Amino acid sequence: PAQTMEELVSLCKRRGFIFQGSEIYGGLQGFYDYGPLGVELKNNIKQAWWRTNVYERDDMEGLDASIIMHRMVLRHSGHEATFSDPMVDNRKTKKRYRLDHLVKDQKPAVQQAVAEAMGESLENFAALVAAMVKNPARASEALIAGGVRDAFSGEVGDWTEPKPFNMMFKTTIGPTADEDSYGYLRPETAQGIFTNFKNVVDSTSRRLPFGIAQIGKAFRNEITPRNFIFRVRELEQMEIEFFCAPGTDEDWHEHWLQARLAWWAAQGVPREKIQILDVPKEDLAHYSKRTYDLMYDYPTLGYEEIEGIANRSDYDLGSHTKAQGELGIQARVEENLDSVAKLTIPHPDTNKPVVPFVIEPSAGVDRAMLAVLSEAYTKETLENGSERIVLKLKPHLAPIKVAVIPLARNREEIVSVAKSVKADLQKLGLGRILFEDSGNIGKAYRRHDEVGTPFCVTVDFDTVGKGEDEALVDTVTVRDRDTLAQERVKISDLAAYLTSRLK
Ligand code: ATP
Repeated sequence: PAQTMEELVSLCKRRGFIFQGSEIYGGLQGFYDYGPLGVELKNNIKQAWWRTNVYERDDMEGLDASIIMHRMVLRHSGHEATFSDPMVDNRKTKKRYRLDHLVKDQKPAVQQAVAEAMGESLENFAALVAAMVKNPARASEALIAGGVRDAFSGEVGDWTEPKPFNMMFKTTIGPTADEDSYGYLRPETAQGIFTNFKNVVDSTSRRLPFGIAQIGKAFRNEITPRNFIFRVRELEQMEIEFFCAPGTDEDWHEHWLQARLAWWAAQGVPREKIQILDVPKEDLAHYSKRTYDLMYDYPTLGYEEIEGIANRSDYDLGSHTKAQGELGIQARVEENLDSVAKLTIPHPDTNKPVVPFVIEPSAGVDRAMLAVLSEAYTKETLENGSERIVLKLKPHLAPIKVAVIPLARNREEIVSVAKSVKADLQKLGLGRILFEDSGNIGKAYRRHDEVGTPFCVTVDFDTVGKGEDEALVDTVTVRDRDTLAQERVKISDLAAYLTSRLK
């Protein structure tokens, strides 16, 4: 695995996985663009997730809802009121920071001083931050007394009281200047699932339990985007809302925890690199009855959340439904006089309408990509003493499945065989097959090791009958990324050979 975030950032830029957004104008913080290889890897991760969670189950439907949503959706979801992080300003530099990030980035002695000034212990960092949010005046004093430094200037800062900063992006809709003609870019894909609950049930005749899966962009105006693609303002999520009868929710929560750990392992992110955090009550999101955060051991960052698996109870459908009073909703929900739909489904035992409970496994595509890349990243010393970097990606995730290389770029007969081998392999539906004629063979191998191409196929003089060995006509060399073994394979056997190894 990668030892530092830096080596991943450097590989991603060098080989074309990930670029800074709007780079030619100086870049835009918190936005990244996925390059030629990044888009393939990302698509493969999303496909793997969809295959496991939609195709291989019999209790799931898919959805692709729109990104911009009615402001009422985000009002009744609770996001207008609560989707915020605590922010503090430095009066001197005018820089803004997310309170918990600011404190965490200080030297241990400074952190200790802040905790002491708050009368809290550093052991429970979340409780310290909660106390600072609750008592902003004292928090401001503690930051100043503790000597908290500004990350920008390095000087001891003059800190304001923390106040909540709502992270939703708001946008005007249509040409009117009307105050109410605005919507939000969704901060999570989940809301599109809840607002379509009735549509999906009515059009598919689903009964409990069943789920709706969605992959798509979400937007959060993070106060301090950082750590490469770990914390961005435009992100992508892979989310499931799994609907079940009240009382069965805790069992389904355990089911999804295990199912999700197994999926991560199948993507090359092993169980032992993930810690399960049973989120303490005081840290739970406004909708949650209980949440397991899967914490992956990221290089440089250490254990950070890669996926949250929340028991959202009947909070969401209960908040978005009309006729709330008649439905026996268990969660504490705000009154809704705007919704026109009753979001119920027959209870499997009684057939009476019920607002189902929801289990939500929610994973970030960008954080998945970072973890997959980090696990695959390998530095090896070869027998001849030279070093190589190789991405040992699972074949189903590799951006390029096979590179077909003509040994001599200027020999028409070799190039044309290589092109036809490429075209035939492409038809197998394995993913991207690359015709690779840039540079010499050694460089090509090195490049394909670094981007995780499982096989290189080389067409040479022997293939086209211009070599020494008659027996090698119509055969090619297949080089294995991991073992470096080179095998001579008949062109006519190539499809079967590669198909079985790329599964
Ligand atoms: P954090 O505590 O790190 O801000 P969160 O608890 O707000 O994350 P959730 O609301 O649970 O995150 O979102 C579900 C998933 O979406 C996360 O596990 C993560 O993979 C992804 N995610 C959330 N925010 C971001 C972000 N700013 N950048 C990249 N991925 C994100």
